[in-house]
Amino acid sequence: MTVNLLDFDLEGLAAFCEQLGEKRFRATQLFRWIHHKGASDFTQMTDLARSLREKLPAAARITGLPVLSRQDSADGTIKWLFDVGDGNAVETVFIPEDDRGTLCVSSQAGCAVGCRFCSTGHQGFSRNLSTGEILAQLWQAEFFLRQHLNRPGERVITNVVMMGMGEPLQNIHALIPALKVMLDDHAYGLSRRRVTVSTSGVVPMIDRLAQECPVALAVSLHAPSDPLRDDLVPLNRKYPIAELLDACLRYLPAAPRDFITFEYCMLDGVNDTPEHAHELLKLLREHGGRGVPCKINLIPFNPFPDSGLRCSPRAVVQRFGQILNEGGIVTTIRKTRGDDIDAACGQLAGDVLDRTDAARRLAQRRAVEQPIRFVTPHPERQA
Ligand code: SAH
Ligand code: SF4
Repeated sequence: MTVNLLDFDLEGLAAFCEQLGEKRFRATQLFRWIHHKGASDFTQMTDLARSLREKLPAAARITGLPVLSRQDSADGTIKWLFDVGDGNAVETVFIPEDDRGTLCVSSQAGCAVGCRFCSTGHQGFSRNLSTGEILAQLWQAEFFLRQHLNRPGERVITNVVMMGMGEPLQNIHALIPALKVMLDDHAYGLSRRRVTVSTSGVVPMIDRLAQECPVALAVSLHAPSDPLRDDLVPLNRKYPIAELLDACLRYLPAAPRDFITFEYCMLDGVNDTPEHAHELLKLLREHGGRGVPCKINLIPFNPFPDSGLRCSPRAVVQRFGQILNEGGIVTTIRKTRGDDIDAACGQLAGDVLDRTDAARRLAQRRAVEQPIRFVTPHPERQA
């Protein structure tokens, strides 16, 4: 059985070369062939020491993920559906802007957190992705795009956001080496501030990320108080808001930016009133005495079937943002991209539902009439 070299960061690849009886430094060359040039064939690697090149085919391979589909939006957004085996698939989205190209990467097939407003959460959890499966999304997208956009040798993806399917900090074991490859100058060479981990608030793992690979941090807050957040983001019952904000304060000294980004999904009649905005302002400005240095990103809710939720009207989102801005917290409203291909936040996995084990399990649970929290109509929505 060969190992997939996409599973290694440079340190791991060096250890692997050593196992083959090769000098550790040879790993750097190999690493560059893979992640600078997109090579998957050892015979291409002409300047690699011959002894190593000869040993590699028996011991290793460089394989990405089978592409089940690719959809191109009119606005340039591209969405891939990748097969990760056993009926599971994950999505990856490329979002081009004038001055950058952002790739939104998945960390798990499904997600165990089960947020009420998230399509992936409704799907249930199948499994963690490996480091190689996380990196394959970047590796395949980058080298496809260089060709597709006719930009050979040029870096197309300048930013990575771990905002696809899954909770990255519930898969930190695979995540950390993947982040290291994204940052490594011998690979993608992205700066720490251009790699963002988004989390629903796995407090102990925020500390671990600070120690092992601090990158930009986005925290999905969505509510200014525990009772409401308990309902929207079930993980809040384990790690309530005060503990989460303490973790944010501990993260800041290691962070590449001097603020945390809070994400707030705008749900009509649920978390979007002026009172909620004032409560949020007070919370973030006063927590721990001096508040949490932060920016807020309001995400208009992207609907999906059976969510039982609606997006706040535009004027409500604007008013909410205005209160926060006037209160001194820089707040932006996220533009929705890739609308025509369902590539927006929280819509990922729509197409996958019928393919996953998790979906089958979910259907079985429904059939035996076990109430499932997130499919129960929300009290506020029943009127
Ligand atoms: N699990 C991580 C990262 C993936 S979700 C997290 O929750 O942060 C990426 C972002 O999309 C999160 O901020 C999440 O709250 C948001 N999101 C999920 N479903 C959404 C939806 N239907 N509409 C808008 N944003 C959504
Ligand atoms: Fe999981 Fe994030 Fe979706 Fe919540 S919002 S269910 S944490 S992917």
